[in-house]
Amino acid sequence: MARYVFITGGVVSSLGKGLASAALGALLQARGFSVRLRKLDPYLNVDPGTMSPFEHGEVFVTDDGAETDLDLGHYERFTGVACRKTDSVSSGRIYSNVLEKERRGDYLGKTIQVIPHVTNEIKDFLRVGDEEVDFMLCEIGGTVGDIEGLPFFEAIRQFAHEKPRGECIFMHLTLLPYLAASGELKTKPTQHSVKELQSIGIAPDVLVCRSEHPIPEREREKIALFCNVRKEAVVAAYDLKSIYEAPLAYHREGLDQAVLDAFGISPAPRPNLEKWLDVQDRIHNTDGEVNVAIVGKYIQLEDAYKSIKEALTHGGMANRVKVNVQWVDAEDFDREDVGERLSGYHAILVPGGFGERGTEGKIKAAQFARERKVPYLGICLGMQMAVIEAARNVAGVARAGSEEFDHEKGEKRFEPVVYHLKEWVQGNHTVSRKADDDKGGTMRLGAYSANLKEGSKVAEVYGATVIEERHRHRYEVDLKYKDKLESCGLVFSGMSPDGRLPEIVEWKDHPWFIGVQYHPELKSKPFDPHPLFADFIRAAVDTSRLV
Ligand code: GLN
Repeated sequence: MARYVFITGGVVSSLGKGLASAALGALLQARGFSVRLRKLDPYLNVDPGTMSPFEHGEVFVTDDGAETDLDLGHYERFTGVACRKTDSVSSGRIYSNVLEKERRGDYLGKTIQVIPHVTNEIKDFLRVGDEEVDFMLCEIGGTVGDIEGLPFFEAIRQFAHEKPRGECIFMHLTLLPYLAASGELKTKPTQHSVKELQSIGIAPDVLVCRSEHPIPEREREKIALFCNVRKEAVVAAYDLKSIYEAPLAYHREGLDQAVLDAFGISPAPRPNLEKWLDVQDRIHNTDGEVNVAIVGKYIQLEDAYKSIKEALTHGGMANRVKVNVQWVDAEDFDREDVGERLSGYHAILVPGGFGERGTEGKIKAAQFARERKVPYLGICLGMQMAVIEAARNVAGVARAGSEEFDHEKGEKRFEPVVYHLKEWVQGNHTVSRKADDDKGGTMRLGAYSANLKEGSKVAEVYGATVIEERHRHRYEVDLKYKDKLESCGLVFSGMSPDGRLPEIVEWKDHPWFIGVQYHPELKSKPFDPHPLFADFIRAAVDTSRLV
């Protein structure tokens, strides 16, 4: 049976609960324990799949096809443990399950209430797979005191109450604001936040205090006394240059020791931190830098491309260079000259996206990269745009476009080189979709394998001919155009196992031009950079040496 750590936050949002949870997971692993991380989100959307990236940041997709919160990306990047559908839940999902059961008559005519029906549903979610790992780390989204978070807090209180003593602990993150006028760190918000938790029956065992300044011993003692936690369990979290320093920084501050102490695990196994020391070394000891342009649509909120940004950083770490990312709004190319805007970058990345807005700019970016021989990585929509560019400007399909844009406008303007996929094979069964299905969850989602063409660039980059990557899209490149495009030099170097779905394209006579229908960024880790990103940055380094 797993031991449980519940991670909550108070005072303000965005304190880095996800990062603290992920770093704790990494530290427990370093001490030889197995872990799984979980996120409980209080919002009412059933999942983040249909939420705008402007609202919620990136949608993180798991191998088993769940569209989840971007914190799960942190969990995977720090622990290497692949998240599953059962590692992310929202109030919306919980209520929808309860209501479904109610309609089915599962509750035998009882009155359905938050306690016990909703809280039981949450507790069932917490228990899934508890026999598989040593520690289950469960993060509650939002801050204590939020109305919508209450059922979750009540459920974790009950859960800990029902478990034998010592099997669950609570870790609470707060902020110690600094008042410049008096030169002091203020502990009162932390005290209030802990009171709020205590008023709903939860007493924190470990307090993680975010602070921009060193926490004096005196303040630490005060927090410990007033919040009823041991002094060693008041852990400081200071701002870091890179998020990947978090495991070592938290270890220095005693987080993993405090957690193991709270469980009474003594003596605690010694940690092996080699992996993180290497990561730290790669961050600090770089030789040179490269400039990469990301030509996208959701550039106002960098979180919308969180995993891509991180994967580029990992690519930099693999090559020991600093990667400077410049966000370029694809719509700027409606007004500006692409050449002027994109020259000077050592590589161009066009990420995934939905809808027509900005796509003509992305097509121009792909054309620029092809003609000027600048390394190009097209991801999902970025691959589709590269294919459309090739069709229009090289293969002579003047009206080439994606059916997605015609669907959006409700008129037929394009020749659909990228078309709506209605049926595909997953493993050994066929999945079908209608054009007018619900927007939520009607995509080709999750892990699919692909066969790589022997001797192709991607086969060389991966060092393999069979790969498995995660997908999240509705449209596909139409196989009908394969021969025509290949005769122009655009190689279809990765295909679905049944040979029907193009997964990867690459230009033959180009130093590095690859488009992938999937999202390689989701599987990249700081200690195991994704081969495509590692090699893309290597190519960028080559370009930087040419100029
Ligand atoms: N909008 C495109 C599709 O649905 C691409 C999606 C993506 O980039 N994730 O196929």
